[in-house]
Amino acid sequence: MAAACDRAGRDPASVTLVAVSKNHPPETVRAAAALGLTVFGENRVQEAKTKIPLSPGRLQWHLIGHLQSNKCRDAVELFQMIESVDSLALAQELQKWAAKSAKTLPVLLEVNVAGEASKFGYRPDLLLAELAQLNALTKLEIHGLMTVAPWSPDPEKVRPVFRRLRELRTECEQVLGAPLPHLSMGMSGDFEVAIEEGATLVRIGTALFGPRAAGRKAAAAAAGEVD
Ligand SMILES: *Cc1c(COP(=O)(O)O)cnc(C)c1O
Repeated sequence: MAAACDRAGRDPASVTLVAVSKNHPPETVRAAAALGLTVFGENRVQEAKTKIPLSPGRLQWHLIGHLQSNKCRDAVELFQMIESVDSLALAQELQKWAAKSAKTLPVLLEVNVAGEASKFGYRPDLLLAELAQLNALTKLEIHGLMTVAPWSPDPEKVRPVFRRLRELRTECEQVLGAPLPHLSMGMSGDFEVAIEEGATLVRIGTALFGPRAAGRKAAAAAAGEVD
């Protein structure tokens, strides 16, 4: 991360590492926290609900996976930031639960930049069309945009996706008349390119913790949980 910041002439302090602990046990979180990591990412509310109480209390948790409306109540209690807001209906549901617990909830708006059918996230044109309505939700604070780039063995191939997210942020800032500080983009395979293109949050699992257990993943899928 420091080398990528150096190449891009950026201050390393401007990029936060979100340690993606999905499919890893609380012991892994404790070990990473002991080494100084403070921000963790989970993609399923159910898994986070059991893991977070068993983890050190001073950590920050980001939800990075698709959120179903029936899990919004728990999500508002568990997470300090929801990175995966991908529809107005979801944002309205989060607003409802944030209001009930007298909280203001930091969120990112997830964008499906490459238009992949298999991915969640706003179409860029729809995001721009709904932005004013999203911004009117008083209990949500929009901090920026998030994307999951298409997988490629060559990270250079996804550079245009990161660049497009950065441009879209500027377009959103113009609509809102306010700055959006965060761009959450880049994972184990492509975080360096993402940092060069302006990422402020990189979400990294495999490069920190090794491969996730396929067995646990398969079991979760069989239980009907969305990955
Ligand atoms: C799993 C996941 C990551 C981390 O992926 P790695 O390739 O293991 O670093 C990042 N973002 C999201 C949304 C994820 O679901």
